[in-house]
Amino acid sequence: MKAIVNYENGPEKVQYMDVEMPVPAEGQVRIKVAYCGICGTDLHIYAGDGGYPTKPPVTLGHELSGIVEAVSEGADPAWIGKKVVSETYYHTCGRCMYCRTGHGNLCPEKKSIGSAVNGAMADYVVVPEKNLHLIPEGISLREAAMTEPLACCVQGVLEFGDMIPGDRVLITGPGAIGLMCLQVAVSAGAVVIVAGTAVDKERLELAKKLGAAETVYSDQPDAKEKIGMLCGPFGPDVVLDCSGAGPAIRMGLEVIRKGGRYVQVGLTGRPVELDMNLITLKELSVMGTYAQKPQWWEKALDLVQRGEVKLEPLISDVYPLKEWKKAFDGYQQKTGFKYLLQAAADSE
Ligand SMILES: [Zn+2]
Ligand SMILES: [Zn+2]
Repeated sequence: MKAIVNYENGPEKVQYMDVEMPVPAEGQVRIKVAYCGICGTDLHIYAGDGGYPTKPPVTLGHELSGIVEAVSEGADPAWIGKKVVSETYYHTCGRCMYCRTGHGNLCPEKKSIGSAVNGAMADYVVVPEKNLHLIPEGISLREAAMTEPLACCVQGVLEFGDMIPGDRVLITGPGAIGLMCLQVAVSAGAVVIVAGTAVDKERLELAKKLGAAETVYSDQPDAKEKIGMLCGPFGPDVVLDCSGAGPAIRMGLEVIRKGGRYVQVGLTGRPVELDMNLITLKELSVMGTYAQKPQWWEKALDLVQRGEVKLEPLISDVYPLKEWKKAFDGYQQKTGFKYLLQAAADSE
């Protein structure tokens, strides 16, 4: 079968190549991949910048949808033929303090598909049966491939943002993650402002269509004033940074109200200079959110099924697996939102 493989560490060590068909071990299933999304971490792996560690040779891809095609001993044969998405943890220890308190995303022994073990930018992928979630009626395989990033957003918004109806929320960074967080926050009853820069014009327009009460250009001199007008004199109750960009993070900490909740969703790539006094003097709760816990997958699928989160408008383009390079380049140019690779169409 074909796969997109990170064959050794270093820049641009990624190739479309033939690999062995994976065989499910006990308790595992084999999924015929339909779509696999490209994530920022895949770009870090391709750039070989050390921003995301891998164990090459390894097939990339962790945002998948597909159809269960084979099950091994110990896995339920009823899964065969079912449309599914899969959580990304191939292995967690199950014994450590994190695993035992339901925080497998923080397990030191966590091994994820697409970085430590073979992932889903391939015709087939093998995952543990316990990672599967059935795709509910009414959600397409295209949309379902975005369940993983959406589950990250649901955790960031609902668990750490801890929103209640009427909360004023500022989201900085209107990429796919920002616009998913926007929709989850709106579904929770929040009034949401989305901030971007001049390059985000098209993204901010889409933010309006997806429920943003207002959009602002954070690089314009009147940005803070505009946010103040929309959030009242004290500023937003919650800020979620989905950009990972220093200026956006600094602005978020400046405008957030005293006692507000600040959630860092985006990765910065490199250290960012901040005025820590803002955290002290404003008594801010500052939190990070990383990957997601299983309960947020069901919530993510439910929000999509009920139409509260729309994923189709976030798909910029779909490329066959062998044209992965075009899709990676498109993502890198930061023009669109989400790029998907279509595996099933590639079985020549
Ligand atoms: Zn991802
Ligand atoms: Zn563990």
